[in-house]
Amino acid sequence: MKILVINAGSSSLKYQLIDMETESVMAKGLCERIGIDGHLKHSPLVGGKPVFNEDIALPTHAEAIAAVIDKLTSAEYGVVSSMKEIDAVGHRVVHGGEKFASSVLITDEVMKALEECTPFAPLHNPANIIGINACRDVMGDVPMVAVFDTAFHQTMPGKAFMYAVPYEYYQNDGIRRYGFHGTSHRYVSGRCAELMGKPIEELKIVSCHMGNGSSIAAIDGGKCVDTSMGFTPLVGLPMGTRCGDLDAGVIQFIMNKYGIGIDEMLNILNKKSGVLGVSGVSSDFRDLDNAAAEGNERAQLALDMFHYWVAKVAGSYVAAMNGVDAIVFTAGVGENSKSSRKAIAEYFGYLGVAIDDEANSKRGEDIMISTPDSKVKVFVIPTNEELVIARDTKDIVG
Ligand code: AMP
Repeated sequence: MKILVINAGSSSLKYQLIDMETESVMAKGLCERIGIDGHLKHSPLVGGKPVFNEDIALPTHAEAIAAVIDKLTSAEYGVVSSMKEIDAVGHRVVHGGEKFASSVLITDEVMKALEECTPFAPLHNPANIIGINACRDVMGDVPMVAVFDTAFHQTMPGKAFMYAVPYEYYQNDGIRRYGFHGTSHRYVSGRCAELMGKPIEELKIVSCHMGNGSSIAAIDGGKCVDTSMGFTPLVGLPMGTRCGDLDAGVIQFIMNKYGIGIDEMLNILNKKSGVLGVSGVSSDFRDLDNAAAEGNERAQLALDMFHYWVAKVAGSYVAAMNGVDAIVFTAGVGENSKSSRKAIAEYFGYLGVAIDDEANSKRGEDIMISTPDSKVKVFVIPTNEELVIARDTKDIVG
């Protein structure tokens, strides 16, 4: 079975074609500047075919999907002989609200429910829906599955997902913590259990997804019991450009003092805050590491804040689960920055965590970076959301 995984953004569309017999990626690529002018980078990973990397007109997502299918099946760049070889499509959808606690076969009814979730993710869900509609138009009756960033967190109990505001806002409007990065947390926690050789039902895991956006999840017995992102992906840890947790009074103060409206305020909190805002240097942790090494104190402060917050939230999840067996680092910073992993792990001395410096200096593979006698195991596990989407699609369609 071959499955096309699609992650559609407002002006971009990422894809992978995965052969489920071997779970290997046959081709991957990215359509950019959809609706502006258009660019496609298509990389075949089997058959020794060349990479296609050119500007092409992509007025809408439908042309983007058509271009992807064209490249996947072309004699020069293709990895399959026709669209008939693509058995199903798995779509990443950011927000499934409370309606979707797991992945689902896409039907007209599901599309309606997705539209109803749009107010919760006004920037992301419309793009996901456009991507699905474009695929349905171009690919006809190929079965399609929606896989949600929020679904894994639907097991959180009320005490973890409720905000302490008047209950009507939850009851009438669905105001609550939803959480994001669920597909990633699900993948790495499952992989962590495999690496530990134990059923996930017997494990308490703290999963730290640290990338441009960052979130932590407490996973008890394979089920998410708490997570740091909330109603939106703005809160929790300070991130590349997002502020993380913030007293609402600060928002009122800044808006009043500088006479700015809520849209501009949210733009500042989403795009100009986080480690970028604190350091004034960059949202990229590599730049921060370099600047801090050259003595830039604000870059060091931003890094210290980030490490402290990861440790603080992770520690609160150890309390929430009444213990922890393993801590996992994943995503851009988690997979690549040995200095950030080390700095965070130093806070976990009270748990009996000890880091093996040699293991911690390796990259690009699933690896245990704690010493063999460390009481709590610490892993680096490269995330693979596309594979989870493809597996769910196979299970549902197959
Ligand atoms: P992601 O959102 O998971 O793609 O992560 C992207 C982020 O990973 C970038 O913004 C960088 O801050 C970070 N990153 C990637 N490589 C490294 C590295 N070698 N050291 C530190 N941070 C890195």
